[in-house]
Amino acid sequence: MAAERTSLVTAVVLLLGCAAPPTTGLQVVVAPHSAAAPAWLADPSVGDRARTTSEIVVAAWHAPARRLDGYTLTLEAGAGTLDCGGTPATGCTTVAGGGGGTIVVEVGSAACVEVTVLAHELGHVALAGDSGHADARWYSADLGRQVAQALLPTVPAEDGPCLARLRELEASAVYMISWGNGV
Ligand SMILES: [Zn+2]
Repeated sequence: MAAERTSLVTAVVLLLGCAAPPTTGLQVVVAPHSAAAPAWLADPSVGDRARTTSEIVVAAWHAPARRLDGYTLTLEAGAGTLDCGGTPATGCTTVAGGGGGTIVVEVGSAACVEVTVLAHELGHVALAGDSGHADARWYSADLGRQVAQALLPTVPAEDGPCLARLRELEASAVYMISWGNGV
């Protein structure tokens, strides 16, 4: 008992010793949007679904789930195109030097968060900033199919449009380089 108490005290001291413990996991923020935005954006489940999607996709890229620590995902609707460091895009990921960073996704008219450009952006998280899409997996039909297959069981059965789109992505094996564009 005494030993356990000592361990606990040690753990607390160690935690206090960290100047700024990193935020664990992915934080999800839904930006203010108009009524014209997809209805799923206002669903209370959107944060959990985005986090589940992120964990699955990062695993598909063979990166550890902890790679998501310190990242904030902002879901936007209505902006059309984002200004990603001067480049127009529907998704933008900034990797911070000390870990973590920001992901911004314009959801457009996507059927659900799973089929937005998020899965593409997570490649930039998993590969820690391969902003030039140099890794061969960006162009792998197998990876696109694998991601769609892994996401399908996580989508509620009543979300027909989302499931239909994921099945399309699975059947057509969309490369991660273009995942989420035009949806
Ligand atoms: Zn990219």
